[in-house]
Amino acid sequence: MIWDELESALDSLEADGLKRHQRTLEAPCGPLAVVDGRPLISFCSNDYLGLANDPVLVEAACAGARAWGVGSGASHLVSGHQSPHVALEARLAAFTGFPRALLFSTGYMANLGIVPALVGRGDAVFADKLNHASLLDAVQLSRAESQRYAHGDLAALERLLAKSSAKRKLILSDAVFSMDGDLAPLPGLLELAQRYDAWLVIDDAHGFGVLGDEGRGSLAHFGIGSAAQRLLYMGTLGKAAGASGAFVAASQTVIEWLLQRARTYIFTTGSSPLIACALAASLDLIESGDARRAHLSELTVQLRDGLADTRWQLLPSPTAIQPVLIGDNHEALRIANALYERGLWVPAIRPPTVPRGTARLRVSLSAAHSAAQVASLVAALQDLA
Ligand SMILES: *Cc1c(COP(=O)(O)O)cnc(C)c1O
Repeated sequence: MIWDELESALDSLEADGLKRHQRTLEAPCGPLAVVDGRPLISFCSNDYLGLANDPVLVEAACAGARAWGVGSGASHLVSGHQSPHVALEARLAAFTGFPRALLFSTGYMANLGIVPALVGRGDAVFADKLNHASLLDAVQLSRAESQRYAHGDLAALERLLAKSSAKRKLILSDAVFSMDGDLAPLPGLLELAQRYDAWLVIDDAHGFGVLGDEGRGSLAHFGIGSAAQRLLYMGTLGKAAGASGAFVAASQTVIEWLLQRARTYIFTTGSSPLIACALAASLDLIESGDARRAHLSELTVQLRDGLADTRWQLLPSPTAIQPVLIGDNHEALRIANALYERGLWVPAIRPPTVPRGTARLRVSLSAAHSAAQVASLVAALQDLA
């Protein structure tokens, strides 16, 4: 019976060290978390610039709620598309250098919307093996043929493209890989997209706001102009931007097509206008956020230098995502628990989120951390190693 199957499946997750648990935070997102009444220094969030609980955003959200209420009341194509959404889309397009942008409620939904709108049966998607789960799901939903290439391997990608006789081709990649922190070779991906007449969709969930001039993201980091008609840029607004939501920036034609065809845009309630108001304030802080980004880089260097000669391998990540490779699921959990006992909260990331045998601690840094907080994590990890 299905009941027994579920119970035994849950038991084996527990036995394999793979059972997930929620922890309830009793404080807003920030470097100091409170769980079960206990204060902890948190290295878990994607709030890279420390904006999630910034008073400027809080005030903009409150003012937005007073002016616009709480809910949009309908989907964007019915009556849920309000002036704050329009203003935010225009700003996001200008900020990322694309002709037009379209808001989605989450990054997951944006990805699920984009891929099936562009490709279907008879087409092929070429995807990096370490792409985010939402991109994998998006390919499945599209019914296009899925071709996965070894992580960051342009030569492998080119072999697949050269062999393919698919009608439409789409290359799909994270810009910053969420569990490894490294960057995709974006200039090479764009060059292959041009050479093989493919679309290129870039998911910049972890680069938007953090990388590039004024935080314009990974394309800016690599000096890639947006002019290419084959390029779609997806950024999320729940990480560095500190709120929630996502956007796709692209040419006028592509955005118009997504508006007609992306089902996760069409068949869902428009995001709250107060979030759009908070995000306008967030973009101001991102644009003028060089000091925050410089502090974040300093913390990243401090952590990497501090852990350089422990027995655990650091992955080659230049970003705020700093994974400490442990390997074994149980050991990763044991170390995460030992840190937790010392008041340091670092998540243990295990399969299926990462490949088998590569369980890791995923340290994520924020501009809201102090050097002293990072020093205490370094000291504890040195001690446990
Ligand atoms: C977080 C993340 C998403 C999903 O974005 P949400 O707004 O949280 O739904 C998509 N892609 C990548 C690479 C991510 O890290």
